[in-house]
Amino acid sequence: MTKSLTVIVPCYNEELVLQESYRRLKRVLNTLSNPSEISFIDDGSTDNTGVLLAEIAANDPHVKVIVFSRNFGHQKAVTAGINHCTTDLAVIMDADLQDTPELIPEMLELLETNQAQVVYGVRNTRKGESHFKVWSAKWFYRFLNLFSEVELPVDTGDFRLIDSNIIREFNKMPEQGKYVRGLVSWSGFKQIPFYYEREPRLAGETKYPFSKMMTLATTSMLYFSKKPLMLATTLGFLSVVIALIYGLYAVLGHIFGFTHADSGWTSLVVLIVFFGGVQLFTIGILGAYIGNLFDEIKSRPEYIIAKKINC
Ligand code: UDP
Ligand code: MG
Repeated sequence: MTKSLTVIVPCYNEELVLQESYRRLKRVLNTLSNPSEISFIDDGSTDNTGVLLAEIAANDPHVKVIVFSRNFGHQKAVTAGINHCTTDLAVIMDADLQDTPELIPEMLELLETNQAQVVYGVRNTRKGESHFKVWSAKWFYRFLNLFSEVELPVDTGDFRLIDSNIIREFNKMPEQGKYVRGLVSWSGFKQIPFYYEREPRLAGETKYPFSKMMTLATTSMLYFSKKPLMLATTLGFLSVVIALIYGLYAVLGHIFGFTHADSGWTSLVVLIVFFGGVQLFTIGILGAYIGNLFDEIKSRPEYIIAKKINC
């Protein structure tokens, strides 16, 4: 039996690329034997994206549109797409054609031949992205894995094909702080990589400014590891050792006369500043976890839908 497929496309102010994305995606889906639909999530766009999506959906009953009441962010848009998915399989991809839709048939075949549950895209190259973005992403994923309690594949975005097992398990996950690629990885089953060249954005600018990248980075770090919490203990232990050695030196120095009581000003200031910094830093880490607990405990809806079309 051929499996049905939804392509989930989060969109935030994508008026420049939307029609071309839809056209190319549709051309690919038409070549498949799988029944397919496209699910566009309008993440509170303020440009013409909403109008364009309504037009596309009016002419194509296989296009679903979910409109958020405001901008909730890329990860929430993808979450909404998965939550509303009623097919056997789902592909998650960007609206800007950085993730080539023509690769979908290959991904489907890989899933089938390997009897896998996930085929995730791994970026070979990133064309047309700033050096800073490429460099920061490269090191970020490696750094993240040092901390993470599950193996998170490096150099992957959210471009991936997931099957009904993953969709079902993902929909059971109640957390507010969603790091979709991490949660998919955490789910286990058989997940296989798929190497591809990441194209430059078709038009417009990235919708991931530095602040949104930082939010994603901290969510992925704090939701996948308790190791930062151990930092206070580790640093505390180290400072006790240093204090003991230094204390011994000071006492012996006093007794045997190789230090003078009034000569300790510099070391005192350095120590006070150092340990003050360590304490504030570790309190900050605690604060970040408590902040997340606060968000989780409020249990607000993860996103608010203003309108649905063809759903
Ligand atoms: N996006 C979104 N909400 C946001 C930011 C981005 O739905 O708040 C969408 C955006 O329209 C695109 C995808 O998420 O389809 C990835 O964003 P973008 O391509 O700007 O990120 P980049 O590829 O530069 O990392
Ligand atoms: Mg992009």
